[in-house]
Amino acid sequence: MRYELMLPYQIRKAIAENWPVVLPLGVLEYHGEHMAVGMDTLAVVKMLELFEKEADIVILPAFYYGAASYAVAPPEGNGSVQVGGRALAPFAEELFYSLLRIGFRNIHAIIHHQTENFAAGMPTDLAFKTAGRQAIFRFLEKERGEGWWGSETMAGYYAEHAEGGNFFNWIQVHPLMPTVTDGQYPFDHAGIGETSLMLALCPEAVDAGHFADNTGWYTATAPEASMELGQKGVAMILDHLREMLTA
Ligand SMILES: [Zn+2]
Repeated sequence: MRYELMLPYQIRKAIAENWPVVLPLGVLEYHGEHMAVGMDTLAVVKMLELFEKEADIVILPAFYYGAASYAVAPPEGNGSVQVGGRALAPFAEELFYSLLRIGFRNIHAIIHHQTENFAAGMPTDLAFKTAGRQAIFRFLEKERGEGWWGSETMAGYYAEHAEGGNFFNWIQVHPLMPTVTDGQYPFDHAGIGETSLMLALCPEAVDAGHFADNTGWYTATAPEASMELGQKGVAMILDHLREMLTA
């Protein structure tokens, strides 16, 4: 369900049943002359809309204003919007803290932008990961007081941790694509992989009439994009979402 359309009784049901609450996290960034600047975020939004047909999830309004960087192209006339990680982290902490106050304990942010470096992290995902940790510590300390972890009630912490019970799983940040694709699908920026994904998910975000205007190396493979290849990516990502988003 889209969070902005939910009524309080529906929100209480989602909390009681521990539905995944998912933030589509992304950027607005230059993706060549043939593709829309929202590509990275649109891919997450559209995939979650597909996944929602088979699973009970809450989809938060998308956050498009991450750290795109100007690494691909300067913003003037090209459209990239850059908000740095230092500005994102305090915002994200407040957002996550507020979601914990509501009662959600199964919160996820999903990002596609720059996720080829997901294990080490890049500015947007690192800011949201840090923010999630900070929000959880702050929330637990407010609820339980200082010394909460050292108290007797926590004596089973390591055993529960080994079983997968862990406060720090309350907020997780994931890449949209599986980290290891085993060559199943090309990962790129505005090339055949991303363009095919958009053709499958959001064809209005691609204009084949502008392939010829591209000059960047990273767009060289874009004209080979197809909806058929995009559908393979969609199937792969759906499998990945099924693994990540469980009640
Ligand atoms: Zn992209």
